[in-house]
Amino acid sequence: MLFKKGVKYVVSCIEEILFPKHCFECSKVNTYLCETCEKKFLYKNNSENQEFIYLHYTPVRHLIHQAKFYGKKGIFYFFWKRMWPYFFSKPWTNFTYKNTLFIPVPLHFLKKIKRWYNQSFLLADGLSETTGIPCRTDIIYRKKYTRQQSHLWKKERQENIKNAFVINKKYTDILDKKHIILVDDVVSTGATLNEIKNIIKQQSSPLSIHFCCIASGR
Ligand SMILES: [Zn+2]
Repeated sequence: MLFKKGVKYVVSCIEEILFPKHCFECSKVNTYLCETCEKKFLYKNNSENQEFIYLHYTPVRHLIHQAKFYGKKGIFYFFWKRMWPYFFSKPWTNFTYKNTLFIPVPLHFLKKIKRWYNQSFLLADGLSETTGIPCRTDIIYRKKYTRQQSHLWKKERQENIKNAFVINKKYTDILDKKHIILVDDVVSTGATLNEIKNIIKQQSSPLSIHFCCIASGR
């Protein structure tokens, strides 16, 4: 654990030297999104089904893009630090480290080789480290190499993602009687998250299934 924290610290220090932080909206230094600008992009509807904290507008969209496609992992750490207190302050959550699991949306292994890491895992791992709730990446796999969802229309997205995931039969018991929190960077039509939710429900008996994302592109 100490080694892992040390590596994260060194990586974030190198990143800060190479790419000095500044607010992507007003250019204020030392943050990716300052408190004043952040307020403009927070999603204000405080409903039970809300599973994201920001609206997917520039600069949130720009920040996620930078993190995802230019490997700026420090931006993901910036987001998860905001996600967990937000998500866990909800009155309807009674998650404990014993009855809950984080599961990041899996990447196909070829995509993981191409990108070097899974952005959903970075988020889920950060949330897990902060809350003590376990994060499992060995239960659900992506068996189908899918086209990027953001390039497709709603109906095409559902078809593209159909039967893309598989549950490791060895671990279906672990999902029983648990609150499952599926973690992803952006939710748009929800096709990917709903596909995973459906296979979990078909093959196990969880207490509940939630989504936890940075932003909504809806
Ligand atoms: Zn700002």
